Amino acid sequence: MRRTTDNALSWADEGTRLFLRTIGRWDEEQYLAPSGLPGWTRKHLVAHVAANADALGNLVHWAATGEETPMYPSVERRNADIAAGGAKPAAELTAWLRASAERLAGALRDLSQDQWRAGVVTAQGRTVPATEIPWMRSREVCVHAVDLAAGLSFARLPEGFLPALADDIVTRRAAAPGPPVTLLATDTGDHWELPGDGGPVKVGGTLAEITAYLAGRPHSLTAPDLPAWL
Ligand code: ZN
Repeated sequence: MRRTTDNALSWADEGTRLFLRTIGRWDEEQYLAPSGLPGWTRKHLVAHVAANADALGNLVHWAATGEETPMYPSVERRNADIAAGGAKPAAELTAWLRASAERLAGALRDLSQDQWRAGVVTAQGRTVPATEIPWMRSREVCVHAVDLAAGLSFARLPEGFLPALADDIVTRRAAAPGPPVTLLATDTGDHWELPGDGGPVKVGGTLAEITAYLAGRPHSLTAPDLPAWL
């Protein structure tokens, strides 16, 4: 286990700063440009990341009070809110992103030792301790900062985040095997195995390239296509 709650908290903070710095003072035109995610403008993506902070805030509330407050009322509502976010003014989206991130960070800071251990249910239906919330948030802000398609690459994400993300994705991908691949990070010596039928294909590249590949994001490796993830 390479990640701790403290690490994840600092990756979430750092990822939030990177995300906000990337947006800076985008005007309407910059906000309406396509994101790296199919069919989504940057407005949709920012609305999704802001709504994610509010949704994770619901889980923090659940951990703090025991009152069952799921991330989203329903999948339909989650999708409708993203669609509506695509039509919000630029300044409103930036303000929502900033305020929601601050609220979440503040709520996490206020959790007691016992509350950190309380079980909550993710949008995918997994029951996890509240200590998973900072990791869930760091994944969202860091990966989606790259998805803003504004020049930020995986190589610029916080140190330590990339191997933790690669571990997490490899674990999830093992549950739904695709092509067997052995991955070697030539700069750090880290390696991962993606299980599947047949002899594994060996793929080498920087840790940042390998993580981008595992996450299903643009990369420059010569490697087999992987099934969709997340
Ligand atoms: Zn997301």
